[in-house]
Amino acid sequence: MKKISYKGLLVAYLCTMFVFKKINDLQNYLSTQRKSEKKIGFVPTMGALHQGHISLIEKAKSENAVCVCSIFVNPTQFNNKEDLKKYPRTIEKDIEMLASARNDVLFLPDEKEIYPSTTPLRWERGLGGEAFDFGGLDKILEGKSRPGHFQGVAQVLERLLDIVRPHTLYLGQKDYQQFLIVKKMMEIFSPNIQLIMCPIIREADGLAMSSRNIRLLETERKEAVIISQTLFEMKEKSKQISLGNIKKWAVQNIQSVSSAKVDYIEIVNAENLEPIENWNEAKKIIALTAVKFGTIRLIDNVFIS
Ligand code: AMP
Repeated sequence: MKKISYKGLLVAYLCTMFVFKKINDLQNYLSTQRKSEKKIGFVPTMGALHQGHISLIEKAKSENAVCVCSIFVNPTQFNNKEDLKKYPRTIEKDIEMLASARNDVLFLPDEKEIYPSTTPLRWERGLGGEAFDFGGLDKILEGKSRPGHFQGVAQVLERLLDIVRPHTLYLGQKDYQQFLIVKKMMEIFSPNIQLIMCPIIREADGLAMSSRNIRLLETERKEAVIISQTLFEMKEKSKQISLGNIKKWAVQNIQSVSSAKVDYIEIVNAENLEPIENWNEAKKIIALTAVKFGTIRLIDNVFIS
């Protein structure tokens, strides 16, 4: 892991943000806060922070006495080694952003701290190849394109929740399938922790903010606006056009820009991500998409109803 510079620590110090790299230190601090009945909100991230992450911090801060943000690029949720290697790491800028947002605690563990070899991981405790049974929710959409991804997400969140033991966990709608997966996991393993979903924060042109956006080439960045434009137009056109036709139109519309390749675009029941054939089949409907620009894969979604 990259060392934090003197400047990064100085910024944190001046803004009175605690930076803990060790679980013990974090837990000692948090247990004192708990003793004085302070509520703890938790925002887990993989860093390369942007305003989308900061909106979660602001929400957590507004509802808790202590906001803990973690930055940990979790290797077990990357099915593609190259993607893990190229995942942006901007720790000094992240610390500055967190400190300016008046975040209280940054938890910055390394891999050994999260996955010490002495602690058997869930699937090493005799539970077979896969630890969590999500009833297939982890195998569709993102899970189909990224096998094992959600098992890794659930693994790291189970671990982080066990370490931080917050009152409330804040996740973004941007990763909607992840939100549903974590919700399922928490119903079983952490029923006492409240889960809040925060809305998607977008760039001025509508592109959903993402740590991956900085890896787009200039032309790709300009063309990427087609994703949100298409999703919002789908919402507008819903009810007037059949669901099947709107999906066909959406694929064509996104791929009308030269650098975009649609991985999937689906209109599903927002409760369980099950496919629907017509607009009356579910009360809450969501359109979800993943689009590739070269090797960069971007996801976005919009509630249709
Ligand atoms: P990540 O660092 O990508 O793992 O994201 C950490 C958290 O920030 C997750 O709960 C994401 O859903 C959330 N997030 C990422 N991008 C956005 C965004 N544009 N708006 C709101 N939340 C976001």
